Amino acid sequence: MKMKTPDKRVPQRTCTGCRRCGDKSTFIRLAISEGRAVVDHYGTMPGRGAYICPDSDCLDKAIRKKSISRALKSGVSIDVDMLRQEIEDIEKQI
Ligand SMILES: [Zn+2]
Repeated sequence: MKMKTPDKRVPQRTCTGCRRCGDKSTFIRLAISEGRAVVDHYGTMPGRGAYICPDSDCLDKAIRKKSISRALKSGVSIDVDMLRQEIEDIEKQI
């Protein structure tokens, strides 16, 4: 018989880059604004979200695997330089 996973109250998310699982609060949320992937700083933007560690390495991995557009919506435009800049800014604050 398999062990039941503990019933955690904190929502768990997976990084689209490295596949790390963790609390929602430890990730940056990406959402779609006007057809582009943007950082959802307050986690309040509507629609689907993609989660990523506050780490530009994870952004690189996610871009390589195209997992951001898979998590959000195929065809969403991704401005890698803009996202990298935002993620690096958040990295610095931690
Ligand atoms: Zn990651």
